[in-house]
Amino acid sequence: MRIVGIEGTAWAASAALYDAETDDVVIESDPYEPDSGGIHPREAAEHMGAAIPEVVSTILDHAAATASEYGDGLDIDAVAFSRGPGLGPCLRIVGTAARALAQTLSVPLVGVNHMVAHLEIGRHRSGFESPVCLNASGANAHLLGYHDGRYRILGETMDTGVGNAIDKFTRHLDWSHPGGPKVEKRAKEGKYHDLPYVVKGMDFSFSGIMSAAKDAVDDGVPVEDVCAGLQETIFAMLTEVAERALSLTGTDELVLGGGVGQNERLREMLASMCEQRGAEFYAPEPRFLRDNAGMIAVLGAKMFRAGDTIEVSESSVDPNFRPDEVAVTWRGSDES
Ligand code: ATP
Repeated sequence: MRIVGIEGTAWAASAALYDAETDDVVIESDPYEPDSGGIHPREAAEHMGAAIPEVVSTILDHAAATASEYGDGLDIDAVAFSRGPGLGPCLRIVGTAARALAQTLSVPLVGVNHMVAHLEIGRHRSGFESPVCLNASGANAHLLGYHDGRYRILGETMDTGVGNAIDKFTRHLDWSHPGGPKVEKRAKEGKYHDLPYVVKGMDFSFSGIMSAAKDAVDDGVPVEDVCAGLQETIFAMLTEVAERALSLTGTDELVLGGGVGQNERLREMLASMCEQRGAEFYAPEPRFLRDNAGMIAVLGAKMFRAGDTIEVSESSVDPNFRPDEVAVTWRGSDES
């Protein structure tokens, strides 16, 4: 079975071909990089409009070159796309491209929740059965656990996503987007600077920490020290709540998803916490952590196999699509 995935919820215009028999995933991505400031929804949508046809075309060329010699056409069984959450103008372009491609190829359409895809790619590649997932991405931060046919949100940010919070801090410093890798680099040169630590029950908040970090820089604290304090504080918060989610669910498997998961210090803290409690930890390789169509194609294949496809007339996108709205149809004995 071969599935095309299309992703474009915010900054990454991406298409992928997933071959479920070989487990090979080929991804073609074209990132939107703002000239200044953060992600501007209109500019991001303009980028999607130009880049999605290009990345899809490259993946279709690859599909043609690798199609089974016994089949006909491109040897594609379904088209999966990100239905949300994400920026509405970007999602609409992705949805239109996916519908057009599915209809042109006369194959079913699969509508994927982007955050569930961040989780499922980790579950798929780790081989874990029922992990808790920490999604640490740009626009989101939450802990997911499976119960009774759905991924339940065990804890989440009460304000901004974790990556967006870091990016807001770096915008204050006039650093270019994305800020996360730059904070990671500078933090290595700094000493810990104390910042507020905000965990309430299973939820957490980043906005007060970011204001305190901006104030500290304005007050003359060395920027490396603020970066070090920022990373230690927000990643300790995420690690604390991840540990509590493991404890509450009785699960001993943790997977990491989302672009902030590329951060070495976050992975180190989570791995150390898991080791101390005898749990297993898995973080996918970076190409599957940041936004990418590979994870959409892989979850799309599981959903397609479970018969979880949608009609074009019902395939509208949803910028606020929460993971717990998704009925999980694909988990079971015939899952690959
Ligand atoms: P979502 O999946 O919620 O829609 P998103 O579309 O913003 O999020 P992701 O690719 O998951 O995209 O994450 C992008 C974020 O990851 C950006 O905020 C960026 O600063 C952050 N990021 C990237 N690399 C690192 C790093 N090494 N350390 C910390 N943050 C990082």
